[in-house]
Amino acid sequence: MTDTPLKDEIRRRISMAGPMPVRQFMMHCLTHPQHGYYMTRDPLGRAGDFITSPEISQVFGELVGLWAASAWHLMAQPDNVRLIELGPGRGTMMLDAMRAAQVVPAFRQAIVLHLVEISPALRERQQQAFAALDVPVMWHQSFDEVPDGPAIVLANEFFDALPVNQAIKQFNGWYERVVELDPDGNLKFGLANETIPLFEQLVPAALRDAPIGTIYEWRGDNLPLAIGRRLAHQGGAALIIDYGYDKTAAGETLQAVSGHGYVDPLDAPGAADLTAHVDFQAFADAAESMGARVFGPIAQATFLRRLGIEKRVETLSALAPSELAAQIDSGVKRLIAEGPKDMGTLFKVMAIANPSLGTIPGFELETR
Ligand code: SAH
Repeated sequence: MTDTPLKDEIRRRISMAGPMPVRQFMMHCLTHPQHGYYMTRDPLGRAGDFITSPEISQVFGELVGLWAASAWHLMAQPDNVRLIELGPGRGTMMLDAMRAAQVVPAFRQAIVLHLVEISPALRERQQQAFAALDVPVMWHQSFDEVPDGPAIVLANEFFDALPVNQAIKQFNGWYERVVELDPDGNLKFGLANETIPLFEQLVPAALRDAPIGTIYEWRGDNLPLAIGRRLAHQGGAALIIDYGYDKTAAGETLQAVSGHGYVDPLDAPGAADLTAHVDFQAFADAAESMGARVFGPIAQATFLRRLGIEKRVETLSALAPSELAAQIDSGVKRLIAEGPKDMGTLFKVMAIANPSLGTIPGFELETR
């Protein structure tokens, strides 16, 4: 059992205010101003808790940059475009993207960069990373703060870090799942006292006949709506890369990771990363309801192959010294590996766009 300052605070809050909904617990764990996981540290990389695609290979960000350049083309090449990244981490993907975008100078000149980042620690890291960049950069606490205008939105492993609600089905209805205290004062999962009113009617059709004990997770934030609305009204496209399920499904996916391994989500609040899978169907439905068009999701391997990742590796490897060439090769192999637990399969890519853009690169076969 681990004690953390946040665990004490959560205990205090529960003893004063009663059981805490899972969503609120996850929110405190990740973004509590003093003790939140992301607020105090850089969790990425080999020495951290997890590693992401852009940290594995430069080719990832480069292809995303070329994708953005072609989206800009389809947008009829506006003189000003807001290139927005949600949760940029160390800024690696954006730096690689900007380098690759040098092949389309007019696109690069049109860019104003907007980074949506809640963590002071990572924001500082990004400030260092972008210090020498020759495009204007602005930081924001939330997506809603980004000024109007045509936009290209990028997000890799961002949405899995947004808090989820959980409900459990019982014989007389659905109950919100909460974190509470056992008699010894330890954190444990439990159920709220009352069923959630009208929830039977609100759950997706696929879950109406779910057996007792089923857990259903959903995100209550309005970001998918906001992205869909923005792109439909002001133009542009978004690329969402994350792990998750294509169709809304039952089951718990909340998980905690520390030092590249799974840990108990209740054990060390604020010291372990908490994530939950992205419900791509719910995301797509929300964006579409605002008038945007959705493509995919497709497997990361498929997307990167269609963007020409293998060719790119050949070109880079031919230019690089042999040790570096081997490193590029093994990084890319990892990104597009297609076993059931490999990144190329687990990670999915979904695009959202203003309908006027037509078919989005990488999704030629996936119009919904
Ligand atoms: N995209 C990066 C980092 C992924 S980690 C990569 O692929 O390497 C998640 C990122 O989202 C971090 O930068 C984290 O600080 C940020 N983040 C998490 N929750 C956030 C929130 N609610 N609002 C804004 N940024 C958030």
